[in-house]
Amino acid sequence: MEPEQVFSALRTVLKGEVRIREPMRNHTSFRIGGPADIFIVPYNLDDLRVAVSWLREHHIDFIVIGNGTNLLVSDNGIRGAVIKLGGTLNEIEIGEEGQDGRERGRCASIMAGAGALLPHVARRAAEHGLAGLEFAGGIPGSVGGATVMNAGAYGCSMQDVVAGVLILREDGTLMNLDAANLGFRNRGTKLLDDGTSIVISVRLCLVKEDRDQIIERTERLLAERASKQPLSSPSAGCVFKNPSGGGAGRYIDAAGLKGLRIGDAQVSPKHANFIINLGNAKASDVMALMEEVRLRVFERFGVVLEPEIRVIGG
Ligand SMILES: Cc1cc2nc3c(=O)[nH]c(=O)nc-3n(C[C@H](O)[C@H](O)[C@H](O)COP(=O)(O)OP(=O)(O)OC[C@H]3O[C@@H](n4cnc5c(N)ncnc54)[C@H](O)[C@@H]3O)c2cc1C
Repeated sequence: MEPEQVFSALRTVLKGEVRIREPMRNHTSFRIGGPADIFIVPYNLDDLRVAVSWLREHHIDFIVIGNGTNLLVSDNGIRGAVIKLGGTLNEIEIGEEGQDGRERGRCASIMAGAGALLPHVARRAAEHGLAGLEFAGGIPGSVGGATVMNAGAYGCSMQDVVAGVLILREDGTLMNLDAANLGFRNRGTKLLDDGTSIVISVRLCLVKEDRDQIIERTERLLAERASKQPLSSPSAGCVFKNPSGGGAGRYIDAAGLKGLRIGDAQVSPKHANFIINLGNAKASDVMALMEEVRLRVFERFGVVLEPEIRVIGG
């Protein structure tokens, strides 16, 4: 089916936004990526369900994204549809204190729509005197993306605060999953491997503490991040996972690769595990630079670097 036909059909059945040939560079923190044939921002859960079942019925591939902060989208873009969670799927609700199903004792929960931005949720939590999300104040992803990726920093990750998720399954049904069933691991989960379930909302379990102290801790970590990371240049955060035995950035730095450049993609002179877009970098430049970095680190240290960023499209 041609994108024009999909666009016309979906526009009549969805309340949310539908766009055709949408440049993905507008939806990724790298500011890189060719057009997605169809780009959908559902208005609410019903809209999402309608979109997904329509696309499945018509055998059109699709991918769900959050805030696009861990993605490298190919220069040719994405055939099929991209669904970006938005509308009411971004809402945040502060809940009551209750018993945590994970035997962590009493906790105060936050129910966050998967599209809500993690820094917003961390700020709301701090303002309500709820501790546990300080590590996430500077991670620019959505709650859904961060949960699926088990995003983390400063020795903590989503697995420390997620109590459970509501997912939309491939067969169109909704299901609650406890944290114990998510298969959390270093920057990944079973949901990421499976790729067929969509996280709709996430229940976070936080602990009541002094509001000012939580805010102070969050601010301190944000300042530390700003001093070490190239936050004024487009990037997708750390490019490689940390191998056992040391930080990926340390190996890249020790191999003398800071500042290495292919096209407008450059290994950040400030943080060796970031690749930054100097202006007009292509996905192919970033891929070539990643390959060069992997090769040189392997030659020098015998260490194999695995990508942390997700490469999509073709
Ligand atoms: C400046 C900067 C700093 C960063 N710092 C950190 C850091 O300290 N720690 C860290 O771990 N990461 C960091 N990141 C990377 C990134 O922010 C995280 O990985 C984040 O969790 C990605 O969330 P997202 O919403 O942007 O996901 P996206 O990049 O949009 O998607 C990532 C993956 O998740 C899937 N996905 C997204 N939403 C859903 C959903 N609702 N249901 C099912 N699948 C979904 C997508 O299909 C994709 O496979 C940083 C990035 C930047 C740009």
